Amino acid sequence: MKLIEFYKGRGINIVKGENQYVWDDKGRKYLDLHAGHGVAFLGHRNKIVMEYLQKQMSEIITLTTAFDTPIRQEMLKELDTVKPEGLDNVFLLNSGSEAVELTLKIARKITGKKKIIAFKNSFHGRTSGSLSVTWNKRYREPFEPLLGPIEFLDFNNIEELNKIDEDTAAVIVEPIQGEGGVIPAHQDFMKALREVTQEKNILLIVDEVQTGFGRTGKIWAHQHFGIKADLMTAGKAIGGGFPVSATFMPDWIAEKLEEGDHGTTYGGNPFAAAAVTGAIKALKADNVTEQARIKGEIFMKMLNEALSDFKIVREVRGMGLMIGVDLRLNPGLAIKTLQDEGILSLKAGVSTIRFLSPYMITQQDMEETVNATRKGISLTESKKLSS
Ligand SMILES: *Cc1c(COP(=O)(O)O)cnc(C)c1O
Repeated sequence: MKLIEFYKGRGINIVKGENQYVWDDKGRKYLDLHAGHGVAFLGHRNKIVMEYLQKQMSEIITLTTAFDTPIRQEMLKELDTVKPEGLDNVFLLNSGSEAVELTLKIARKITGKKKIIAFKNSFHGRTSGSLSVTWNKRYREPFEPLLGPIEFLDFNNIEELNKIDEDTAAVIVEPIQGEGGVIPAHQDFMKALREVTQEKNILLIVDEVQTGFGRTGKIWAHQHFGIKADLMTAGKAIGGGFPVSATFMPDWIAEKLEEGDHGTTYGGNPFAAAAVTGAIKALKADNVTEQARIKGEIFMKMLNEALSDFKIVREVRGMGLMIGVDLRLNPGLAIKTLQDEGILSLKAGVSTIRFLSPYMITQQDMEETVNATRKGISLTESKKLSS
């Protein structure tokens, strides 16, 4: 059997992970700033998450949402301690894309309107609905027609918001565009977006699948902007490595939903609930959000200082431990060089090296990353000069 190559192989065989590190089959250690697209934010095999999963394994691991079970109640209680104010209702699913799908369905049902507005450079997933609001034509166009009507507006451009009309059911936005290039939203843009949507009775969907759960220095990245979401998605890091996602909403929306509007086979099963419960406990036990904020500032400052002399570095940007180094050239060689130097990272957009570090990254890890990044960028620069 051959695995379909939707992803280009990285040429290493990983056999073990612990905290911020992974090891290959030859015993070589890597600092994992790829973290499975950010999933391993709490570190690989986080101790508290593992304890919850092991305990749950000895009880029950599969049970549909129609039956109650203690771990689900415990999870809901824990979620209460981290949810954004007012988003008191949740539904558990398995992937970020599914959480986005549910927000789009709810937006249409609640408003009776069809149109969804998204932003250029957005990424919201690969299933047909979530793909409809994903900007990258390479991902989207071969599969059209998808959900519609969809309109894409310029991100961080307040004037563009005038184009949002009352026929719109919802606007979906990432507080920091992840896959699109690690592009943080501007404060005034997010505030204006919230105002326009409120005035015109349009739901604001905040997609926190990548930015959520402490990574940016707040539990939810949109809290940096002092705004409230009508619908919020979470995924990636929230299960401490276990595949689970969630859609959050306030009472007034949840009250309008009825039996049968949505469903799931695996979503919110006891094993996933144990993973989320353990992950929230871990988040709080080690002051993870605050660590991400402080370390992110240090890391970004170090990168800025070390890379400012390179002409091909356009910008170092991000929030907390969601950091991008944007180049004027393709970042492929730099990412390859980082890997050869023992550091895993990933690409964002067409020109950005993305670091999605586990929160326990150390000063020494950061120093090594900065040096390897310099090396990768030097090579990229010299290769360009000689070609
Ligand atoms: C990764 C991501 C998704 C999709 O999540 P999957 O688990 O891959 O389906 C959706 N939105 C954002 C912002 C993401 O970063």
